[in-house]
Amino acid sequence: MQTIDKFNFAGKRAFVRVDFNVPLNENSEITDDTRIRAAMPTLKKILSDGGSLIIASHMGRPKKNPDPKYSLKSILAHVSDLLGVDVKFAPDCMGEETAKMAAGLKAGEVLLLENLRFYEEEEGKPRGEFANDDEKAAAKKVTKENQKKFTATLASYADCYVNDAFGTAHRAHASTALIAKYFDENNKMFGYLMEKEVIAVHKIMTDTARPFTAIMGGSKVSSKIEIIENLLTKVDNLIIAGGMTYTFTKALGGKIGNSLCEDDKLDLALELLEKAKANNVKVVLAVDAKIADAFSNEANTQFVPVGEIPDGWQGLDIGPATEKIFADVIKASKTILWNGPTGVFEFENFTHGSRAVGEAIVEATKKGAFSLVGGGDSVACVNKFGLVDGVSYVSTGGGALLEAIEGRVLPGIEAIRGF
Ligand code: AMP
Repeated sequence: MQTIDKFNFAGKRAFVRVDFNVPLNENSEITDDTRIRAAMPTLKKILSDGGSLIIASHMGRPKKNPDPKYSLKSILAHVSDLLGVDVKFAPDCMGEETAKMAAGLKAGEVLLLENLRFYEEEEGKPRGEFANDDEKAAAKKVTKENQKKFTATLASYADCYVNDAFGTAHRAHASTALIAKYFDENNKMFGYLMEKEVIAVHKIMTDTARPFTAIMGGSKVSSKIEIIENLLTKVDNLIIAGGMTYTFTKALGGKIGNSLCEDDKLDLALELLEKAKANNVKVVLAVDAKIADAFSNEANTQFVPVGEIPDGWQGLDIGPATEKIFADVIKASKTILWNGPTGVFEFENFTHGSRAVGEAIVEATKKGAFSLVGGGDSVACVNKFGLVDGVSYVSTGGGALLEAIEGRVLPGIEAIRGF
C-alpha cells in the first residue's frame, strides 16, 4: 500500500480530500479551525516535496446550488494564512474553467475547490430537503451515470489522490471513496490525519493488547446498541456509565427514581448482559450514584446506592465507590476505548466521575496502555479536563469512528486499502 511519507509529490498534482467542514458564525467567520489545522501536515508535506494541491471538501448540508452560506470561499483566506501560500479559488468544483485552473497549477501552487456538496453527485442522492418543486425535480436527476461523470471529472484534475477526511470515511461519496478507482494503487493514499485514525482503529479493533476495556457512557442505550453488541465480541471488560446506567439498573430490579431510563429497552439491557456472560465479558456497572433533586447544576445532591434512588431524585453522575471500581479496571487494562461521559459533565457539579475516568485512562496510558478517546462528548471531556496529551489518541472521527467500532467496513478506508 502506498503511504504519504514514502510518496514523492515533486512535479505532481495531488487531489486532497479534506474535511474543512468547520463551524462558521452568522458573519461566515470560522469559530473553530481545528479541522483545517488537522490537515496541515498532509498539505505541507505535498508542497514541500514540490507538488501542487487541489483541495476539495464539503461544507454543511447545502439545500440549493450554490448556497453562499456554505461557500468554501469563507475559509479561503485562513487556509492561505495557515499554508503560507496564496491559495487560488475555483468558484465551481466542475466546469472547464476549473479544469484549466487545475491543469495550470505549478509546483507549490494551491487550488481550493468550491463546496463539493453543491452537486448532488457528491453524495449520489437527492439532498432530502428542497425549497420548491423545481429543486426536488432537479435533485431526482442524480443517476449513477451522472455521479460517475462527476467523479471522473474530479479525478481528471490530478495525478494522485490523498484522502485526509476521516470524518467522512463512513460515506461512499464521490470524493471520499468512488474517486479512488481512478488512481492505481501507487497513486492513492491516506493523508497523515486519516492514517493516524486508521492505525488507532486497527489497534483497538484488530491488533488488540489485552485486557481490553471499553467505557461506554452518554445518555441512551438505544444510540449505542450496535456498538455495545460489537464490543461484546471484542472486549474483556465493558464499563457501562452515564444515563444508560439507569436502564440497566431498573432492568435488574433497582429503584431509579426520576433518572433517565428507556423503558422499552429493559429487555434489551438484560439480553446484553446475557450475551456478555456467554462471551466471557465482564460488565462493570455503577454501584453508587450522585443524585440530584432537579436536572440542574444548582440542585441539591447526595450519594446513594445506584438501585436505591428515591422518587423525585435522579442520577446525574457516578459516586465515589463506582469511581474506584471503574478506575481499578481501567488501570489494569492494556487497551482502552472511551466513548461518552459518566454523567452530565456539562454541569460542573457532575463532572467528577468523567474526570476520574479520564485520569485513570491517563495513568494506564503512562504504564503503556493504548487509549483511544472518541465520539463527541468524551472528546469534549478530555479537552475540558486538559487530559488530551495523556491519552494515546483522540479521534476526530465522530460518526466514522463509531461506525468503525460497530464493526463496519468504512468505504473511505476500503477504497484505498482494498479491505
Ligand atoms: P452521548 O451523545 O450519547 O454520548 O451522550 C452525551 C450526553 O449524555 C451528555 O450531554 C451528558 O450530559 C448526557 N448524560 C450523561 N449521563 C447522564 C445522566 N446520568 N442523565 C442524563 N444525561 C446524561
